Amino acid sequence: MILERGEVANSWRRERWDSLRLLTPNWQSRLPGYRYEGTDPDGYMTMGEVIDFITRYSVACNSPVRTHTTVTSVRQTAVGYHVATSNGDLGCRTVVLASGACNVPSVPSLGAAVPASVQCFTPFDYRNPNRLPEGGVLIVGASATGVQLADEIYRSGRPVTLSVGEHVRLPRTYRGRDVLWWMDASGVWNQRYDEIDDLTRARRLPSPQLVGTPVRTTLDLNALSGIGVELVGRLSAVRDGVALFSGGLRNQFALADLKMVRLLDTFDEWACTSRQGSLAPPERFEPTRAPASARLSLDLRNGQIRSILWATGFRPEYGWLDVPVIDHKGLLRHDGGVVDAPGMYALGLPLLRRRKSSFIHGAEDDARDVVDHLARYLAGGRP
Ligand SMILES: Cc1cc2nc3c(=O)[nH]c(=O)nc-3n(C[C@H](O)[C@H](O)[C@H](O)COP(=O)(O)OP(=O)(O)OC[C@H]3O[C@@H](n4cnc5c(N)ncnc54)[C@H](O)[C@@H]3O)c2cc1C
Repeated sequence: MILERGEVANSWRRERWDSLRLLTPNWQSRLPGYRYEGTDPDGYMTMGEVIDFITRYSVACNSPVRTHTTVTSVRQTAVGYHVATSNGDLGCRTVVLASGACNVPSVPSLGAAVPASVQCFTPFDYRNPNRLPEGGVLIVGASATGVQLADEIYRSGRPVTLSVGEHVRLPRTYRGRDVLWWMDASGVWNQRYDEIDDLTRARRLPSPQLVGTPVRTTLDLNALSGIGVELVGRLSAVRDGVALFSGGLRNQFALADLKMVRLLDTFDEWACTSRQGSLAPPERFEPTRAPASARLSLDLRNGQIRSILWATGFRPEYGWLDVPVIDHKGLLRHDGGVVDAPGMYALGLPLLRRRKSSFIHGAEDDARDVVDHLARYLAGGRP
């Protein structure tokens, strides 16, 4: 039985902004036994199309979903779990936590010091630029969400300042193919969690600076500064109404450029050893241009900045889970989706078992492995 507090595809219905498209291409949208079969395999789905895709999947596999049923508590019992919901209670031997990795936007605690005259938004309450007051916008965070919203909001006529911390730079296409085709084909996306040196760090890696547009645009920091977005360093404090930014912008850029080149090197090596014939030659991209002198502070009290958008990532929310499996950072303790409590499993978390785990197409392989373990558990006690 699947319990869902909203509708099927709830996060795509309720928690995304209007213009968002997937950053993964259509051909990559696949679920167990189900794939995109439309006429535009290289395109990127709108939110309406994603909702349709997941809803059709749910109908096709006749999934036993109870919608509008919020899980309010999961407790361990002698034989399994007691699950309390807004629609009555249940008992079960095993539970799969598939409640998502992005239930709430993460806003740094320094946000509390922002003056009341500046309106704050997160990607969950932002829908389109018309919801913002006129005037300057400070966007904090330059991963997928931050760069996409900086572009959209700047084009709505508002001055945008983008605060850049650690980020992952990627071109939309490389040697004539979508960069995510390379991630897939070269095996990078299949890298397993138990082969990665610093798993904790890898699980915290920000999303890549990518956007899905009909014309396959590269949306990196050069593209944004090229249209007029002001780039500043990482927001380090808000003191007496003044936002303070770190001075290490040039280093942040150099590091992201270096990591991108290393990844492209990996792709080239793979293309060479696997004798891929029909590819364009290797490419290298202009390094990220640093502003001549990036501003280190911004007065939030003088009316120049009217709103702040926190594009500082998301986190899961487990307030309803009454089993001691959450660490001091609020994350689930698990080994490849096998949670630290008998008969409890997880899916859909960053790098759960593979680099692709938190993407739609990552569910298929992970689900097979996790369900295999779960079935053995049900068949004979602890596997
Ligand atoms: C802004 C953004 C853009 C993204 N873009 C892409 C992309 O381009 N391509 C891609 O592959 N992935 C993308 N992702 C990742 C994408 O969200 C995941 O791939 C996918 O949603 C994971 O599915 P899931 O079912 O594990 O989690 P979710 O889609 O988060 O589903 C979890 C479900 O659990 C329900 N739930 C939570 N708590 C409870 C409770 N207590 N009781 C009952 N129900 C509950 C929620 O309502 C929700 O429907 C994006 C994520 C975000 C945040």
